[in-house]
Amino acid sequence: MKLAARVGQVTPSLTLAISAQAKAMKAEGIDVCSFSAGEPDFDTPDHIKAAAKKALDEGKTKYGPAAGDPQLRAAIAAKLQTENQLDYQAENTIVTNGGKHSLYNLMVALLDPGDEVIIPAPYWLSYPEMVKLAEGTPKIVNTTAENGYKLTPQQLRDACTPKTRLLVLNSPSNPTGMVYTPQELRAIAEVVVERDILVVSDEIYEKIIYDDAEQVSIGSLSPEIFARTIISNGFAKAYSMTGWRLGFLAGPLELIKAVSTLQSHSTSNVCTFAQYGAIAALEGSQDCVEEMRQAFAKRRTYILDRLKAIPGLTCPEPKGAFYVFPNVSQTGMKSLDFCKALLDRENVATIPGIAFGADDCIRLSYATDLPTIEKGMDRLERFVRSQL
Ligand code: PLP
Repeated sequence: MKLAARVGQVTPSLTLAISAQAKAMKAEGIDVCSFSAGEPDFDTPDHIKAAAKKALDEGKTKYGPAAGDPQLRAAIAAKLQTENQLDYQAENTIVTNGGKHSLYNLMVALLDPGDEVIIPAPYWLSYPEMVKLAEGTPKIVNTTAENGYKLTPQQLRDACTPKTRLLVLNSPSNPTGMVYTPQELRAIAEVVVERDILVVSDEIYEKIIYDDAEQVSIGSLSPEIFARTIISNGFAKAYSMTGWRLGFLAGPLELIKAVSTLQSHSTSNVCTFAQYGAIAALEGSQDCVEEMRQAFAKRRTYILDRLKAIPGLTCPEPKGAFYVFPNVSQTGMKSLDFCKALLDRENVATIPGIAFGADDCIRLSYATDLPTIEKGMDRLERFVRSQL
């Protein structure tokens, strides 16, 4: 069958494929240690589930406004004001079917064919594909481990052309876990303003930060950068709500209206009763977020100590999210071969860095319980030592 060229140029998500393979192996009874999932292993907190159940019982089962429940949009605006120092009103926000959908909608609403989008690598694997689906041109800029996998202002300046429309910033980052400092963000913001481009700040891991890392939204740094910023966020990672499919965008009114029109002809509103769970997440106690963060922090310390003790692997210390991104090039293998061999020989599932634009690295998610991490690290260590 002849398919649109649009879909021909995108590749299916490798992370979802490997997670599915690991799950299938587990279902066959194989003792797999999976470091592949990009989702917290905790259940959704009870008060969030209760709010959605109540909404369901109360008959909140009908169509709603395409841009989202007004109460939820107001709660999102309030969160952005108080937590992120971003002066948005409810009409500057829109509820989407997850952070992925937020970003996809943004690309479709913003880009004309040939418009360039600057994406620092290593990147979350869906960014370039979304840009291509929207008929824009991804412009990948490689960052280095020595520089903490951060884009420098000069790199940004050099990558800008008259066709540049947007910079994608993701801090804390998937896959590297790096977090920009406020000073670094300020320097990036200056270039965004100077070149008069837009920046989308994907803040989905904002609540999962460690040590001295500080979460600052680039849009809060000056009125000039605020006018050029779009925030993408969601409930999946902070509240362990991956399957609920709930995210949001916030930005200039004109853009949000365009995304709302797009949504009104594509998905309509996000599941009505699920949105009541999201309101409870934002307005209820945030203790659950901190409890999960502390559990991630313990696992991070453990996994970093183990990684440091494995000869042949190098890994900058991540300051956020729940990933480590070690370089495996000293084994002589590229990422896909490494991950395949590790899965075949040791039943350990990891994601090849090539999916994130970094073929010397692999991604391990520590959003899994400590005993699995301990067993998996034993196996990884045995595997790497056997390769050296
Ligand atoms: N952005 C980043 C960097 C992510 O890692 C993810 C999920 O893995 C998303 C956005 C989208 O999350 P969701 O669509 O589940 O809200």
